[in-house]
Amino acid sequence: MQPFPIYNFSAGPAVLPESVLRTAQNEMLDYNGTGISVMTMSHRGDAFASILHHAEQDLRQLMNIPNNYKVLFLQGGASAQFSQIVLNFAHGFECVDAVVSGNWSEIAYKQMAKLTQTHIHLAADGKRDFQYKNVPPVASWDIHRDAAFVHFVINETVHGLQYRDVPQWSADLPPLICDMSSEILSRQVNVADFGVIYAGAQKNIGPAGATVVIIREDLLERCSSHVPDVWNYQSHVQRQGMYNTPATYPIYMAGLVFRWLQAQGGVESIQKINELKAKKLYDAIDQSGGFYQNDIYPDARSQMNVVFRTQDIELDEKFIQESVLNGLQLLRGYKAVGGMRASIYNAMPMAGVDALIEFMQDFQKRYG
Ligand SMILES: *Cc1c(COP(=O)(O)O)cnc(C)c1O
Repeated sequence: MQPFPIYNFSAGPAVLPESVLRTAQNEMLDYNGTGISVMTMSHRGDAFASILHHAEQDLRQLMNIPNNYKVLFLQGGASAQFSQIVLNFAHGFECVDAVVSGNWSEIAYKQMAKLTQTHIHLAADGKRDFQYKNVPPVASWDIHRDAAFVHFVINETVHGLQYRDVPQWSADLPPLICDMSSEILSRQVNVADFGVIYAGAQKNIGPAGATVVIIREDLLERCSSHVPDVWNYQSHVQRQGMYNTPATYPIYMAGLVFRWLQAQGGVESIQKINELKAKKLYDAIDQSGGFYQNDIYPDARSQMNVVFRTQDIELDEKFIQESVLNGLQLLRGYKAVGGMRASIYNAMPMAGVDALIEFMQDFQKRYG
């Protein structure tokens, strides 16, 4: 047994609230008196229908989702959405506008471009213009009025970049589609600004396996009938999310996380805590006299994924190895970026950030 608490800074699949894991443990063999596990029950039975219904209602409440939006829990992760949005919404349009601001939006752009019937236009290039140290400002996006939609990633999980001001969108622009995987439910957003919001669950919602897709109703009319049903949003909506077997257990877990978040006071409350956690950590980096560095433009620093490094690759390696021995897990940065990355999603308690900062200061004393 470890003599101290473990804090898990994984970028995804990521930390879940301990109370949620305990509830799942208690209900593992007998869900709510049914005598069976959520994992082994029919997705068409009453018990699961109720789980799905409440998960949707609670998410609607938490995000204040307007009635003219549909909510789906699909499979395939955010990566499947990169092409599913083109398949469903681009038919009959000249082009799609793609904003590239970091690793995931670059992948999205390249994957969309494989669907050769549609021209994917690079509306902003954060690699060329900012070497992924800043996000291309919304006002600089080169948007085609007749594009099918504009796609962007609001929080870049790998590079630690975030659109800190959520874009406010005008109704006469093409609908805005947002990959919100690594920040959904971490701060308040106005859903009505978006045509579609999607998010893989494994960052801020639950275990891997479910993907939340929030779609403005009028866009469903675009889903062309030549798209096979399993990829077609319209067929999932028409069958109330039961076109085929949904990811039942991840949806159940997501529902537990939604209730946990409500008990914390909802998104408004968690946002305040998230802002404080991020500020503490960036302050610790900035006040280390250059021992730790984060070279993202201050206004684009992610409040969810805090990347930092020392001046020396070998010291980074030492940091990562020693941090594990101190109960701080999975701080290694993404391969292509190197250094460290602390993902501080909703379920990371303040005590975890405090423990990390204490370790950083101690490490600096020994090696600085
Ligand atoms: C993790 C992540 C993805 C990829 O999610 P998968 O579920 O692995 O497909 C896409 N976009 C963002 C912003 C992410 O953080």
